[in-house]
Amino acid sequence: MKFSESLIKTRREKVKEADSINADLLIRGSYIDQLASGVYTYLPLGLKTIEKISSVIRDEINKIQGQEILMPVLQPKENWQKTGRWETEDNLYKFTSYYSKTDLVLGPTHEEVVVPLAKKFIFSYKDLPKYLYQIQNKFRDEKRAKGGLLRGREFIMKDLYSFHSSKEDLDDYYEKASNAYKNIFNKVGIGSKTYKTFASGGSFSKYSHEFQTESDSGEDLIYLCKKCKVAVNKEIINEQSTCPECGNPKLTEIKAIEVGNIFKLMSKFSAPFGLTYRDRLGEDKPILMGCYGIGLGRLMGAIVEVSHDKDGLIWPIEIAPFKVHLINMGDNREVLTETKRLYEKLMKKKIEVIWDDRSESNGVKLTDADLIGIPIRLIISNKTLESKAIELKERARDNSEMIQYDNILTRIKEIVDVK
Ligand SMILES: [Zn+2]
Repeated sequence: MKFSESLIKTRREKVKEADSINADLLIRGSYIDQLASGVYTYLPLGLKTIEKISSVIRDEINKIQGQEILMPVLQPKENWQKTGRWETEDNLYKFTSYYSKTDLVLGPTHEEVVVPLAKKFIFSYKDLPKYLYQIQNKFRDEKRAKGGLLRGREFIMKDLYSFHSSKEDLDDYYEKASNAYKNIFNKVGIGSKTYKTFASGGSFSKYSHEFQTESDSGEDLIYLCKKCKVAVNKEIINEQSTCPECGNPKLTEIKAIEVGNIFKLMSKFSAPFGLTYRDRLGEDKPILMGCYGIGLGRLMGAIVEVSHDKDGLIWPIEIAPFKVHLINMGDNREVLTETKRLYEKLMKKKIEVIWDDRSESNGVKLTDADLIGIPIRLIISNKTLESKAIELKERARDNSEMIQYDNILTRIKEIVDVK
């Protein structure tokens, strides 16, 4: 991609409407645009990033046998009445169809859709277990949307629902899902700051779990056991003040952003819809369920909150919209020819590259590169031409290195593969 043809217009000044670091940097870097409070457009850079995050999540959920579907956003009132949530949920976007006069909900979650759906496909123990997930926009009527992508009114979620014939099978899958979540947070670069956090399990199960990423901009307080690297949330600390894994009484309070959660629903939603299966003896039994959520936009926001500096974004390589940010300094013929040659070479090798081909000053190009935060910056200038080399600098490091033309692909591959 050439910068001059892209939809990128960076901004130098702090964004007035931004209420958080992630909103400020993502808007200034042309990743997102705010339409209304808590409602954002993903611009080309932002969409590429979200798609990378989606692909990490898909890979891991497919590995634990998840099957992807896409359920509707529009959900009928009757389903929400069946589970009792039409009356009890405060954050539902409810409205009435002008033509049919029926009441509808813009889905904030999909138990009310996936359970009646499962009823059409699961009849016998032979049909179990099943794991269905989707990646889709969800809606919450927030009193006060805040924190940029951390708490929106419309947001992208991955929601997975599992269906089981026994508690043992659910417990087993719950652990698998928990491990898949760890892999996801490692791959998107926040694994070392993300803690499995014990939360209340509601009336059916002792615990559920949240995945909480340590950050000063987090709105949750969690209590970390530094030995086990697990935490408990506020509800749990009131009941027990020790680590649930090792009994350690010394827990450290930290601020965190909830980036995922997993929950044993048991028969909470299968019961109201009469979702049962026939066992080996021909008896009808309730199907047990688990649900597993990750907010993709929130995850992107959380990554920005933990991975940036005063100059801008610092994307982990796995989810960066481009791997390489190529800059020609000056526009004399040799510099341009060499930069174009390198650009085409990278494209041919399928290394995602954005070339800042604008006739802007070197200062502007470097400032923009820091703000946008692509992991590898390559510079070609009169100076590098003299030594037949390319200047390479990683966004996350201070030093740059000079790489000979013939070695550049190998060096890039080293950086891309290590992480
Ligand atoms: Zn512990």
